[in-house]
Amino acid sequence: MTELPDRRLLLVHAHPDDESINNGATMARYAAEGALVTLVTCTLGERGEVIPPELAHLTGAALGQHRLGELRDATRALGVGDVRLLGGAGRYSDSGMMGLADNDDPGCFWQADVDQAAGHLADVILEVRPQVLVTYDDNGGYGHPDHIQAHRVAMRAVDLAAGRGHQVGKVYWNRAPRSVVEAAFARLQDELPGLPFDKSASVDDVPGVVDDERITAAIDGGAHAAAKAAAMRAHATQIEVAGSCFALSNELAQPLFTTEYYELVRGPGQPGETDLFAGLGTGEAS
Ligand SMILES: [Zn+2]
Repeated sequence: MTELPDRRLLLVHAHPDDESINNGATMARYAAEGALVTLVTCTLGERGEVIPPELAHLTGAALGQHRLGELRDATRALGVGDVRLLGGAGRYSDSGMMGLADNDDPGCFWQADVDQAAGHLADVILEVRPQVLVTYDDNGGYGHPDHIQAHRVAMRAVDLAAGRGHQVGKVYWNRAPRSVVEAAFARLQDELPGLPFDKSASVDDVPGVVDDERITAAIDGGAHAAAKAAAMRAHATQIEVAGSCFALSNELAQPLFTTEYYELVRGPGQPGETDLFAGLGTGEAS
């Protein structure tokens, strides 16, 4: 216990690739600063759509195993070594997009018992004792069942862990300020002719977009932009990176943000934070 670094950050994500897209710069920055960065990913993303034609044969469990390898490569690029799959790899499977019959699969994460899944996460919380936890908002950022469930499980696990002896100091949700996203899409229009993508996504395709005043923290990861891009490239089945943009399997270009944004939902803090550990006195934390 005494060997843990002073500052400890836990991120809870639904699928391999979500960590790099949402928090890659933040993870790389805190890892470089010596904080313990722990990632818990809830599923292996077995229902993801595969981009490269040469990997299109990968589906189901084979795709899950491949994506686990991508996750290892991505987190290595971020300098993050503590990566866990909720309940162990393969415990919960990808639920697929909302409304599909996949959501009814009894083994899928959407069908998981929230308390039981949160119990697995609480075990991790009690082990690494994070001061800060990052996850999605109650709509999972954009409505994917696994992202909504990750939110529910993360928030429940914070309560369970508090009852078992560790209070997470601060909880943040991943966010993107509307004005920043709109400006980035405007710039993207100029870049688009030079990119391998024909069309642009839109502001509505970006998870977690809210009015600017709801943003309480901005983490400048500009110094770690290359690590974030490398991590996203490692998820080659899911992401194509080009210049300062990327696309998912829909081939629609969207901006790659190296400053990442958060909304504080539990714990001390005030608007304008540039450090997720601000106000926690983590230098003396035990
Ligand atoms: Zn996802």
